[in-house]
Amino acid sequence: MGSNAWHERAKTVRIDGRALIDGRRVDALDGRSFECISPIDGRKLTEVARCDAPDADAAVAGCRAAFEDGRWAGRAPAERKRILIRFADLMLEHRDELALLETLDMGKPIRYSRTVDVQLAQNCIRWYGEAIDKLYDQVAPTAQDSLALITREPVGVVAAIIPWNYPMLMAAWKIGPALAAGNSVVLKPSEKAPLTALRLAELALEAGLPEGVFNVLPGYGNEAGQALALHMDVDSIGFTGSTRVGKQILQMAGQSNLKRAWTELGGKSANIVCADCPDLDAAVASSIGSIYFNQGESCNAPSRLFVEESIRDAFLDKALALAPNYAPGDPLDESTVMGAIVDAAQMKTVLGYIEDGKAAGARLLAGGRAAREDSGGLYIEPTLFDGVQHQMRIAREEIFGPVLSVLSFTDLDEAVRQANGTPYGLAAAVWTSDMSKAIRTARKLRAGTVHVNQYDNDDITVPFGGYKQSGNGRDRSLHAFDKYTELKTTWIQV
Ligand code: NDP
Repeated sequence: MGSNAWHERAKTVRIDGRALIDGRRVDALDGRSFECISPIDGRKLTEVARCDAPDADAAVAGCRAAFEDGRWAGRAPAERKRILIRFADLMLEHRDELALLETLDMGKPIRYSRTVDVQLAQNCIRWYGEAIDKLYDQVAPTAQDSLALITREPVGVVAAIIPWNYPMLMAAWKIGPALAAGNSVVLKPSEKAPLTALRLAELALEAGLPEGVFNVLPGYGNEAGQALALHMDVDSIGFTGSTRVGKQILQMAGQSNLKRAWTELGGKSANIVCADCPDLDAAVASSIGSIYFNQGESCNAPSRLFVEESIRDAFLDKALALAPNYAPGDPLDESTVMGAIVDAAQMKTVLGYIEDGKAAGARLLAGGRAAREDSGGLYIEPTLFDGVQHQMRIAREEIFGPVLSVLSFTDLDEAVRQANGTPYGLAAAVWTSDMSKAIRTARKLRAGTVHVNQYDNDDITVPFGGYKQSGNGRDRSLHAFDKYTELKTTWIQV
């Protein structure tokens, strides 16, 4: 489809901002709503239900009833599998619609909404559906007079709170394992991008998921989100978002019913390129592509680049030649690779960090300004700072925008020390042709994921999550079931 076709389709796509509770689309109980504005050109997309504590109570009560009567948890895993696979199929059938909603809502290029976000999200639902009837429980090696079973059971009612940068994919990472395991779920999407989560819940119903099992509660974090985090009848909370709010989630879990609280938080990932990297062009392309992908709004973006001093100039020449390829464009044009920043608050934050970097003495080599201002939308040029020092804010704090901070090193141990020298520990990378050096460095890097000689590999089969203040849980892979199941021991006298 050309950009005109996407613009035409955007005029007619159905957008419904009401909550989905107990199988029905509903307004917030007090009737309040908020405006959903598209960052691509400032157009108003719809009004969205502004849910609060009474709505959270209704959704959690519906979830609890659905869990207790076994309408989902009581089904055989193979039956749950069939419905989840149908759900994934429906996501593919609605690929264009879901992609369009995602792009309009949070500004990412349509080419990636279609081929990355819808694709990975449906694959995630499918993968957990496929997995659930292949997992066996255990029998403990006890004495002859007893039989001890170790079984996994769904934890019950799961609340999932997600951010706006990959709305559909973050939803899938939570609901995939939670639903497959037999739980009932209330999902609170970000107020900045709630539309695809709401549509997903409709598709799940169409696929045969019983009413009340998957509810979506749009609203603000300090209203709907907080009500879920403090709720006495939520058994587990899966949170993805900032470290600041993640800390509050843990506090609220402790303050209420000690619900299991799992956090996937921010990052300031270090990408270390040694002079003996096997392919400098590949290292540059991957480093630049990964920081500017999704407008830099990725938790694992390699936003701190440590390049060995002897190849710094060559690296920067190649990087600066590539940067213009990432100039922001119309997100509804399929050739665009950099879209809009999610909202005015985020735009201000990113531009603020750019000013801070300049004031601190870093050298601005590319970008640094707002772009496409006549579009009515929110765009920032791909930005690159050289001469960044470890203590500068642009080297230590998560910017969550298209800004790369380049630091150079002569001593790899010192680079690793600085790489580990932030509160975060989500991802990291090292590029070298010396495999022993790569393995030694990977072992020293305190991060949930370490890439060696690539940054782009990613798969549902491997866990994703952080060390330190990047969180305590793992999404994806079979490990994600740990968050949404309880381990039960049953002793039987023989
Ligand atoms: P926030 O922490 O601001 O918000 C995340 C979610 O929490 C939103 O739905 C938000 O609602 C809600 N929330 C806010 N305050 C509260 C509260 N007091 N109680 C309960 N819920 C609340 O993060 P962003 O949405 O800005 O997302 C960006 C962050 O997410 C970045 O730090 C990024 O690194 C991280 N992230 C981490 C990933 C990982 O896997 N580790 C993956 C993707 C992103 P509201 O919409 O109203 O703000």
